[in-house]
Amino acid sequence: MRRRQVLRALTALGLVGLPLPALARTGVERVRMSVDGDTTRLVFDMDGDAEYSMFKLESPDRLVVDIKNARAVDELKLSSNPRSVVESIRHAPRDGGDLRVVFDLRKPIEPRSFKLMPAQDSPHRLVLDLTSREGAPTQSAREESRDNGEPRRGRSQEDLRDVVVAIDAGHGGHDPGAIGPGGTREKDVVLQISKRLAERVDNERGMKAVMIRTGDYFLPLRERIERAREADADVFMSIHADAIANRNVQGSSVYMLSERGASSEAARFLAQRENQADLRLGGVPINGKDDSLTNVLLDLAQSGSLEASNTLAERMISELHRVGKVRKPEVERANFAVLRSPDVPSILVEAAFISNPSEERKLRSTDFQNSLADALLTGLRSYFSTHARPGTLIADGQPDQHIIRPGETLSGIADRYSLSLADLRSANDVSDDRIYAGQVLRIPRDS
Ligand SMILES: [Zn+2]
Repeated sequence: MRRRQVLRALTALGLVGLPLPALARTGVERVRMSVDGDTTRLVFDMDGDAEYSMFKLESPDRLVVDIKNARAVDELKLSSNPRSVVESIRHAPRDGGDLRVVFDLRKPIEPRSFKLMPAQDSPHRLVLDLTSREGAPTQSAREESRDNGEPRRGRSQEDLRDVVVAIDAGHGGHDPGAIGPGGTREKDVVLQISKRLAERVDNERGMKAVMIRTGDYFLPLRERIERAREADADVFMSIHADAIANRNVQGSSVYMLSERGASSEAARFLAQRENQADLRLGGVPINGKDDSLTNVLLDLAQSGSLEASNTLAERMISELHRVGKVRKPEVERANFAVLRSPDVPSILVEAAFISNPSEERKLRSTDFQNSLADALLTGLRSYFSTHARPGTLIADGQPDQHIIRPGETLSGIADRYSLSLADLRSANDVSDDRIYAGQVLRIPRDS
């Protein structure tokens, strides 16, 4: 064909000279909002990459985001949250092919933004962090607050985020969970273990904990899932303690959701019991009329999330072996409602059998709680070393440095960064373990 004919054919197909057909535009599927202190995070989920620009307007304060060659797949909505700097959202097509989104703000903000490529079950995302101006830390303040012995981060790493670990202490409030022969309540010990784990996660470079339940109150399963999603959690861990009529049974187990039902009869009974609190206590009836949750659950048939859950569960089991008896060496699959988060790899850890008198005592002991939390942290490190999503400090962090503080050991530092001692030695040309406070170590990061 001659050039002119080619052009005519392409024009006929709508590929040249005409506005692109709606299907070729990037679909903005939804916008999610979460609030962390002074910062409101907005995440656009999109079915493809898109260029964008944004600017602020004053009196009243607004943020305008133009997404090039895009359309809203559905009405973009935000639930109202008084802690958010965003009051409301509006959107409209613009210039034929673009999508303009306007956020009405409660106060002046400083916006930051970045895009994230698809990873596992997450689509293309555009992330906006809006920090209220009075709360916006200056660069030096931010560096300083980070400077508790942690490696200093270069400016280029500023946009890298921490992976978020949602920690869900089971039961709570009027739902005590299982009760041990000595009267220990599951809801109390799992909250203690969860807090110990959260503390460790928060001290870990590149990780952040979100506690789903922080005190002794009841939360419906659905709300637990929602809280994890609001926090943009990378993984969801529900912590429980097992109980069974036979008091001799002991050990820990790790479960993940199975879309095809339980892997064993025991897993099925357990799932029934753990789900029951919610059914009985006025939570969302899983098999009842509220189909919206059921629909969400169907989305779960995303094998990526299940695969990631399985890896997470396996890494946890291999760590739990170091702390005590693991009841079954393999990952158990069960139909726990609390694990039905459609896009967050999720596991449920039964720390031990509260129905076994000696394990009940262990569950109460600080030593056991600490070593359990240590094991779970190591499992998380192991998981994220291969599964951290792009855009996180763990996945994309540059080679870093560590300033040695008094009392630190080379092996402790290697452990903290999930490195072998040999790798740390060779990266720093150190042949023995003699180090001194103030010495700067290079932390190698392979990708
Ligand atoms: Zn439980």
